[in-house]
Amino acid sequence: MSDEQNERIYLSPPDIGDQERRFVAEAFDTNWIAPLGPHVDAFEREFCDYTGAPYAAALSSGTAALHLALRLSDVGPGDEVIVSSLTFVASAAPVVQLGATPIFIDSERRSWNLDPALLEEFLVRRADEGRLPKALVAVHLYGQCADIDPIAELCRRFDIVLIEDAAEALGATYKARSPGTIGRFGIFSFNGNKIITTSGGGMLVSNEEEAIERARKLATQARDPAPHYEHSELGYNYRLSNVLAGIGRGQLADLDEKVRATRHNFEVYQEALGDLPGVEFMPQAPWGRHTRWLTCLTIDPEAAGVDREGVRTLMVERNIEARPVWKPMHLQPVFADAQMIGGDVAEDLFARGLCLPSGSSLTGAQRQRVIDTFRQAFGA
Ligand SMILES: *Cc1c(COP(=O)(O)O)cnc(C)c1O
Repeated sequence: MSDEQNERIYLSPPDIGDQERRFVAEAFDTNWIAPLGPHVDAFEREFCDYTGAPYAAALSSGTAALHLALRLSDVGPGDEVIVSSLTFVASAAPVVQLGATPIFIDSERRSWNLDPALLEEFLVRRADEGRLPKALVAVHLYGQCADIDPIAELCRRFDIVLIEDAAEALGATYKARSPGTIGRFGIFSFNGNKIITTSGGGMLVSNEEEAIERARKLATQARDPAPHYEHSELGYNYRLSNVLAGIGRGQLADLDEKVRATRHNFEVYQEALGDLPGVEFMPQAPWGRHTRWLTCLTIDPEAAGVDREGVRTLMVERNIEARPVWKPMHLQPVFADAQMIGGDVAEDLFARGLCLPSGSSLTGAQRQRVIDTFRQAFGA
């Protein structure tokens, strides 16, 4: 087998260009290798320009951004926070780390994201009991927005802080707006496998200037203004470095290009695999643009004659990284005791869902190898 036929195909590898190299070289040339510096400020400004968020703080990870958003929402011991169940663990971990209790909620079929009807039912019941949760972490999964308008409306009605976990949805739209800009806080991730990456990094956005200023302070060990080191509260070491912000600026400038590439991956996959029995692609909901950060689909084993694991293991044998859809949080051993609202949809998507290699640098030949392997698993 030639190298090309055998080389590993990753799910969503970094896709780095020349601008990133120039910005990083600039950080070296000017000796700005510290956290903070001109790239950090510029990255925050450019991120606001792109998303339309009024204020942003560049941080060391998306998880750090969510931790700060929850802390700025005064979430602590005794509080409950609703979290989408179908997500990555980082959406829920900071809730527990702040001493609060997560309550998980199911997805709806048309977006694979938080079901607003279930949310309403639950909040009406809890309002009757006089026991409302403090905050909601609504996740925008795989490049697509949740139906965030009715969710935001419910949060207003019941006085719950809305935090949008847009870690996977940078570049998506909801009625022409960016995810992350509708709730009180939005968080984004620039981890290595996200649509843009700084190797590791995150962003917290808000329309409250004061909250973002406070986030910046908490992210730099909560230092009070004084010539010596003065602290009247405790913070974290959560700022993004100036070197990594340089990578982020270059990546952000190419974001639309990357979204075009990931959407193209999806279109090719859909065209090549859509005829197979029992295969259904993650739908694009009517309210906006799905970036297809990952191309995801479900396989109905009865119609297909093969199940998700059958397809995935053949991919693994062929050195192709394909992954099951997120295992829902309410099925995770660490959250065995947590309350769950609904659950059938997330459980079904996990049982039958598969994510295909979807990087913005995926070549036509690599895509064809994925397609051939997939069809072979179907005996087609
Ligand atoms: C990646 C991710 C995060 C965490 O971001 P990091 O930058 O890796 O800390 C949070 N939520 C979701 C849904 C993610 O996919």
